[in-house]
Amino acid sequence: MREYTYGPFQSRRLGLSLGVNVLTNYKLCTYNCVYCEIGLTKKENLVSPNYRIKLPPSPNFRKELKSILTYFPHLNSITFGYNGEPTLNENLLDFLKVAEGIRNKFDWANQKPILTLFTNSSTLYIDKIRKRVSQFELVLAKLDTANNDDFKRTNRPHHDVPNIEMIIESLIKLKQEIPKNNKLAIQILIYDSYNKDFIPNNNSKNILDIAQALKKIKPDIIQIYSTARIPAEYFVFSIDDERKREIASIFKEVIRDDKIEINIY
Ligand code: SF4
Repeated sequence: MREYTYGPFQSRRLGLSLGVNVLTNYKLCTYNCVYCEIGLTKKENLVSPNYRIKLPPSPNFRKELKSILTYFPHLNSITFGYNGEPTLNENLLDFLKVAEGIRNKFDWANQKPILTLFTNSSTLYIDKIRKRVSQFELVLAKLDTANNDDFKRTNRPHHDVPNIEMIIESLIKLKQEIPKNNKLAIQILIYDSYNKDFIPNNNSKNILDIAQALKKIKPDIIQIYSTARIPAEYFVFSIDDERKREIASIFKEVIRDDKIEINIY
């Protein structure tokens, strides 16, 4: 039975991607996003960004990874994330070291799979966490909102999570600190709402605020996408491709930097 890995799956953004869960077998997160595809965050599992869990990889992680990688010489990414916010695990870098060691010894059909980390960005204001995160070859950091009203409505953060200005500041710092060979992608999930009393993050103020934040962060890549599976809240639904293209052109117009790749999924 597998303990740590999922897939590999064909991912819209990463190609053939093997998922690695570095957390518990239940969801543990600093957010309770309305669109979360792994369900609502239970009250007792909605934790402070200062909360740490110590879960080092067992010898099974090495064995599991080795046995799976043998079958997938075309793998594009080994992707850390899944059951919540991976930076909550104090032992995150122990997983990275094991994966990197095994990855570097294999014979790959093309390029080696990249070591990717998903983060919801809530812990990046902590210097030690930014240092850890910047060691991943590709960091996919969440920024669905760029004002505090939208942030609270969409991501429903734990009360200890700093305000959105501080999160944006920490993304600016992360981009400056990340080694040249590694990349920062900002992942932006935009959704709509069937509930007339609930303002979704697909509103023009939020989109313009995100554009201004992106201009300051200067990431390598911007990824615009929407929900693809069942969301935590029944009233959330996906925006269409036309709206994604519109948002991409608003970002382009505001950012005016051809070095930044803008992709829609
Ligand atoms: S940050 Fe990710 S895991 Fe946490 S609630 Fe939001 S979508 Fe779900």
